[in-house]
Amino acid sequence: MKWSLYIGKPAGIKVFIHWTFILLVIWLSWMHLQQGHGLFEIILGLIFLAALFGCITLHEFGHALAARRYGIGTRDINLLPIGGVARLERMPEDPKEELVVAIAGPAVNVVIAIGLYLIMLVLGQSNTELSHHVAGGNFLADLLLINIILVLFNLIPAFPMDGGRVLRALLAFKMKRSKATRVAASVGQLLAIGFVLFGLFYNPWLLFIGIFVFIGAGAESQQVTMQESLREVKAKDLITTGYPALPQTASVSKAATAFMESREPELVITDDEERFVGLLSYERIIEEMQKGHFNNPVVNLVKEEVQTLTPDALIYELLPQIQQSGQRIFPVLDDDRLAGVISHTDLIRLLEQNQAVSASGHRH
Ligand SMILES: [Zn+2]
Repeated sequence: MKWSLYIGKPAGIKVFIHWTFILLVIWLSWMHLQQGHGLFEIILGLIFLAALFGCITLHEFGHALAARRYGIGTRDINLLPIGGVARLERMPEDPKEELVVAIAGPAVNVVIAIGLYLIMLVLGQSNTELSHHVAGGNFLADLLLINIILVLFNLIPAFPMDGGRVLRALLAFKMKRSKATRVAASVGQLLAIGFVLFGLFYNPWLLFIGIFVFIGAGAESQQVTMQESLREVKAKDLITTGYPALPQTASVSKAATAFMESREPELVITDDEERFVGLLSYERIIEEMQKGHFNNPVVNLVKEEVQTLTPDALIYELLPQIQQSGQRIFPVLDDDRLAGVISHTDLIRLLEQNQAVSASGHRH
């Protein structure tokens, strides 16, 4: 990733840190200097920053390692000044698995918070002093508080927060995933509006969170719905009708004319009753013309072992077979009759759209 510094590969997952982190370090140091703090406070502040992002990194590893359990890899983990991003190859579609992957991140922060609390107990800092230390700027108490905030913030039931995915997964136990996504996205945006209104009157922090969630929920739901809708694309949605077809009794020279007129690399060949027989490539016709076989019927030149689709076939599920076939066009058949064709170019376009969508990854 551009503008990022590679820092290591724990558990086989590459971790990058964004260069803009330097700005955060400079800003933090400047704030300390402004308050008349010395070098010790600045160093302590930077250690705290490192500890905070350590917790965020562990949170991301929570997602990544949970996903690995279900055979889903993680491209990398990126640390940005606004938080971490684990770029999972995909989100699991099984609601139970998605629930586990989404909740694994915040669960890590719960464990860290409990750990910090126990350490503080051992160090003799009792519960009653906790608030005092938080206010007074105690390192461990601050870190504990930050982890609790991370849990609460991430569990807001709105995309792009983990809570949005948790909500979607819970809804998906009861309804179709695409519908669950839309409902979860709407809940998130309603919540964001609530935050903004409440924040306007009571707390500017909520206003900020509300705007963040509203923008995030909008973008994420758009992406997710797009991804979902790609999964629902059927052959008939991509179909091109009126594709040139030729009867199998036609001659080679007739086929040559049809190729020149249509400028297509393949022709559909049909029988006497206009049922689909196979595909004829222009390379075959050129070969035959070179041999001088102008008047032979094309019936013997037809490739009959062709990957065909039914109008209701889900393209997404057939993509592996479609890619392996190496065909330039895919006939869509409705009871042996040609309903239309799908070109390889149309499929590539669909794939690219899908990759552009899924590359955006998990974010909060
Ligand atoms: Zn998370």
